Amino acid sequence: MASPSVSTTVQSGRIRVLKEGSRPLDKAQGPVIYWMFRDQRLKDNWALIHAVDQANKAKVPVAVAFNLFNQFLGAKARQLGFMLRGLKQLQHEIEHKLHVPFYLFQGEATQTIPNFVDECGASLLVTDFTPLRQIRKAKEEICKQVNDSVSVHEVDAHNVVPLWVASEKLEYSAKTIRSKINKLLPEYLIDFPVLQPPNEKWVMEKQSVNWDNLIEVVLREGAEVPEIEWCDPGEKAAMEVLKGSKNGFLTTRMKNYHRDRNNPLKPKSLSGLSPYLHFGQISAQHCVLEARSIRKSYPQEVDVFLEELVIRRELADNFCFYQPYYDSMRGAWEWARKTLMDHASDKREHLYRREQLEKGKTADPLWNASQLEMVHYGKMHGFMRMYWAKKILEWTNDPEEALAISIYLNDKYQIDGRDPNGYVGCMWSICGVHDQGWRERPVFGKIRYMNFAGCKRKFDVDGYIAYVKGIIPQSKKRKAEDPCGTKANDSYLAS
Ligand SMILES: Cc1cc2nc3c(=O)[nH]c(=O)nc-3n(C[C@H](O)[C@H](O)[C@H](O)COP(=O)(O)OP(=O)(O)OC[C@H]3O[C@@H](n4cnc5c(N)ncnc54)[C@H](O)[C@@H]3O)c2cc1C
Repeated sequence: MASPSVSTTVQSGRIRVLKEGSRPLDKAQGPVIYWMFRDQRLKDNWALIHAVDQANKAKVPVAVAFNLFNQFLGAKARQLGFMLRGLKQLQHEIEHKLHVPFYLFQGEATQTIPNFVDECGASLLVTDFTPLRQIRKAKEEICKQVNDSVSVHEVDAHNVVPLWVASEKLEYSAKTIRSKINKLLPEYLIDFPVLQPPNEKWVMEKQSVNWDNLIEVVLREGAEVPEIEWCDPGEKAAMEVLKGSKNGFLTTRMKNYHRDRNNPLKPKSLSGLSPYLHFGQISAQHCVLEARSIRKSYPQEVDVFLEELVIRRELADNFCFYQPYYDSMRGAWEWARKTLMDHASDKREHLYRREQLEKGKTADPLWNASQLEMVHYGKMHGFMRMYWAKKILEWTNDPEEALAISIYLNDKYQIDGRDPNGYVGCMWSICGVHDQGWRERPVFGKIRYMNFAGCKRKFDVDGYIAYVKGIIPQSKKRKAEDPCGTKANDSYLAS
């Protein structure tokens, strides 16, 4: 895949040419369209910067287009409400601050985006990057649909080191990708330029979106999993969570992150950034720059945080990009598949159906608490996610079923679900991806094992169960009072 021939302020390694148009970009006449998918923000967005940059070079205007799929990957009110409320703010900001129009389409992107490109006679389509197969397939199709003269550029605006630059292959573990990423950080971990309104004005009619109506519809259709109210959507809220003076992670909560991040009774010790990172409402690169700036005061905390935010997160993207079977047993390494199959018919102490698991009706009160934390609060603590998925392996008929159930539940209830981190988290827990072999035991084979007694040694299990019991009635009350979710706007972690 080639880098673009036209110079740009965005590093060429960050951009892939998915399609070279027949008309050279410097001779372009039609506008530039940025099809925004994963990086839903105005600030610190390399894809948007590239689109504006190219438009200025060709002396043409630029517009942003967003396509709302029908319940993409099973998204419910929880995820769609958060996303659309963020987009509503984004449309306002992008139109008023950057003077770039924002168009919203609904349906299949393979139709709406080429139609729009055609309608406005665009010369260049810019997209951001995701490794998820549905969108990669859609991009292939869009490249075929658009006119010969149109170029298509993909910009990795999500990873600090562009995925295809960090590594050209499927990496085995954090150890194998860490040195590659660290070597490239001085080149890619740079400050963002200030984005100015483009030189050329958009002349086509702008679109007015009835956001409130749209939000009402998605909340009704996805009401089975209602919105959460502790996490305000949007770029401004994301910045508050990162470094707000009241409850910001770097400003007030990061102390002891390296020690407390594995204690489910201390959820505020975690950054709480995953919803914002997932929907691209904040740039990971910006978070890294901010975290680095306080490293002198908090060296251990910052180092451990960056290991998660950069190495683990970008390793997850690497897996989903280079492993076509990123969400099935076929994606596991040979040793893991073999050991799991060797133990597939081992007798299970308990066997639960998906419905029993979904309702949190197992014999293990700790597991039930984690499941209910996810269902009602919308974000299970990171430590519990590992225990939770491993128990599903222990209690279902075979590893493929365990994987399917864990992904189904994760995607349905987590506010940060439907993410490469989620697929890799389930694959790590159940199939040993990015992990090593451990002492062999029933059902798990050589896959790392976790149990109740181990959790009891690590943290106050009863305290966690009681904490989750405390959040369930609040959530049920809200659902009863407001089934369609006319959301209250409590600020994040305010309580
Ligand atoms: C079974 C399972 C399922 C998971 N599902 C998801 C999911 O759907 N979406 C999701 O974003 N993460 C998922 N994770 C990874 C991790 O648990 C969450 O990213 C984390 O708990 C989010 O909370 P935080 O942002 O407050 O975490 P912090 O500890 O503050 O981490 C900061 C950021 O680092 C990244 N990060 C942290 N841990 C990991 C990890 N293990 N792998 C990759 N990146 C990481 C995330 O982007 C996170 O937002 C899953 C892990 C497991 C074991």
